[in-house]
Amino acid sequence: APGETLLEVSGLTAGYGGLQVLHGIDFTIRTGETAVLLGLNGAGKTTTASVLCGKVKPTGGTVSFEGRDASKWSVRQAVSNGIVMCPEGRRVFPQLSVRANLDVGGWTHRSDGDWMEQQREKVYDYFPRLRERHDQMAGTLSGGEQQMVAIGRSLMAKPKLLIIDEASMGLAPVIVKDVFEIVRQINADGTTVILIEQNIGALDVATLGLIMEQGTIVQEVRGAELSDPENVRKVFLG
Ligand code: ATP
Repeated sequence: APGETLLEVSGLTAGYGGLQVLHGIDFTIRTGETAVLLGLNGAGKTTTASVLCGKVKPTGGTVSFEGRDASKWSVRQAVSNGIVMCPEGRRVFPQLSVRANLDVGGWTHRSDGDWMEQQREKVYDYFPRLRERHDQMAGTLSGGEQQMVAIGRSLMAKPKLLIIDEASMGLAPVIVKDVFEIVRQINADGTTVILIEQNIGALDVATLGLIMEQGTIVQEVRGAELSDPENVRKVFLG
């Protein structure tokens, strides 16, 4: 239900081989929130997201999703339990149509055609441009449209928690605004969202800002504080 704890991360540590990247991360996200994980390159944002979606196994701490231990889930288990990540870099399949790209996101969940079509229509309601271009090869779309395909593909799996890694990267400011506005709608329709961002503008759509530096969360910004990003900027920009 809205307002209940959805995700609880406590003392989370993780890394790659001998390199420890996360040094004890703590945060709680409630159902219905849009959280922004904000930090500079290398702060560990993507690694945090990778743990949540089952790609990287934590070396310590706990991850609890809907009250269940999510720390050992595979990517597939995370998806079927409602955690879906839209990866950095708009990785669409360039030779496949928009429609086929979307269907890839649905297959992990269910394969029957009517269900797929219904889900696709919901995605097209968020992104009418994609409906117009449903037969077009994804590789021929603009950067902004490819980002829409990538987000749409994640939505096909009906996430409870949608994690979007660097949605704004490399996009013109006006397109970034569009993307954030659609994120706002997706959230208003009931999906809890985590945005991984270096773009402080993401705070405009957030209910919770988590500022990350060198593998830890150095500041949490909530509610009214968010409307005065001066608070954040100081820490974020050092
Ligand atoms: P970015 O915005 O560049 O994605 P980030 O805050 O998301 O930055 P991470 O991608 O989590 O940061 O990277 C944190 C650290 O982990 C960096 O030092 C990076 O070089 C290292 N790292 C990330 N992925 C791997 C990997 N697959 N193997 C080894 N080291 C990695």
